Amino acid sequence: MLFSLLEMLWVVGLAGVPGWFLGEIFGALLAAVVALFVYAATLSWKLDRLDRWLSAPILRQDPPWQGVWREIAVRVQRLLRQQEKLAAVHQKQLQDFLQAIQASPNGVILLDEQARIEWCNDTAAAHLGLDAQRDRLQHIVHLVRDPVFARYFAQQSHDSEVVIDGRASSVVSRQKLSVQLHAYGEGRSLLLSRDVTTVAQADAMRRDFVANVSHEIRTPLTVLSGFVETLQSIPLGSEETQHYLELMSAQSDRMQSLVADLLMLSQLEGSQLPSTQEKVSLVALMLQVTTEAQAFSDWMASKGQGPVHQLDFVPVPDIYLLGARSELLSAVSNLVSNAIRYTPLGGRIQIHWATTAEGLVFAVHDTGPGIAAEHLPRLAERFYRVDRSRSRETGGTGLGLAITKHVMQRHGGELRIESVVGQGSTFKLVFPQSRVVVDLG
Ligand code: ADP
Repeated sequence: MLFSLLEMLWVVGLAGVPGWFLGEIFGALLAAVVALFVYAATLSWKLDRLDRWLSAPILRQDPPWQGVWREIAVRVQRLLRQQEKLAAVHQKQLQDFLQAIQASPNGVILLDEQARIEWCNDTAAAHLGLDAQRDRLQHIVHLVRDPVFARYFAQQSHDSEVVIDGRASSVVSRQKLSVQLHAYGEGRSLLLSRDVTTVAQADAMRRDFVANVSHEIRTPLTVLSGFVETLQSIPLGSEETQHYLELMSAQSDRMQSLVADLLMLSQLEGSQLPSTQEKVSLVALMLQVTTEAQAFSDWMASKGQGPVHQLDFVPVPDIYLLGARSELLSAVSNLVSNAIRYTPLGGRIQIHWATTAEGLVFAVHDTGPGIAAEHLPRLAERFYRVDRSRSRETGGTGLGLAITKHVMQRHGGELRIESVVGQGSTFKLVFPQSRVVVDLG
């Protein structure tokens, strides 16, 4: 600045000297004014050039001037380079930050002071059916139409989260999202969304389960307490008393079976996967199953006063299964006892083991009533029953197939059910070859 001032005085002074000689004071003043005008015009031209040079992508170009103008241009250039580097660093940090939010399993939406969408990650877009580009600067309440959300948004405080239906909801399944607003900066807010569908389902299942268990226990308990009351209030003969005690014993057996099955289920859910070290002999296992099945069938026949079932146990190959004996016994016994319970007296039940391309298969085929196709996918759900009264009459808990399915999953196998109404059913357990040992030597 000082340099420019001196330069201007120097030019004006230099022009004044010849002006003095030509026209004394008047000549000197005129020459000084003309020189000042020329100097100003030159300065303006140079500034204009500098401005145009600065507007162009100049960071790698050498300034085309010398002297003070070059000095100014180089300084500006250096400053711009520093700014550019800093902006690049900030841009990279911002991109890294957005990428990190993008990778979040939760939905994140940044809202401005007017609750308009500034940015959202892909998860939030999928959760709430947004388009990150198209919906930019749209008001969030205009896009998330759920009335629960609108009410939540209108509240003064957002200390807790709210559960709304997600965009992936359909008639058959509901997606549940937990969303919460968090204020930040000056009037801005962050909307977080989390898919809680499985948590909500697990919660509903837990509630159903508790309701089912309570119901299953309450029924025999009510019957038992009724009998106790009768025995206490009415004087009965020994034969009648005996009869009541037998009925009471049946109810307490039912509760015991239920508790045993519940314990088995919780043990299956809470314990480690069965080891591959324990070798379970199929011959020994089936010896126990055959004896118990025969006794059960005899009991059913005596109770129903009809012919016993025709039980065909195909001889078992000398094979070993790697797994937990108690679990395998339970899975196999459940299928055999179900066949006996649901097949009318005198019916035929075939039980055999076979080695197939898929692995080792245990199959129980009965000539019972069969099961309609719509029930088959739900049969292994806890407490799901097709024939509720038959299940109860024969001491069923509604948990047998759920236990069997669980045991098979734990052994890397599968429970398969084929059935035709009026023709009978075939229940199969398919074990992978990796769990089978043919010869122990
Ligand atoms: P439950 O203790 O009631 O038998 P399960 O889980 O063992 O419970 O079986 C579930 C339901 O599947 C039964 O209630 C019954 O309706 C049906 N079911 C199971 N096995 C057979 C079968 N062999 N034939 C016909 N229905 C069967």
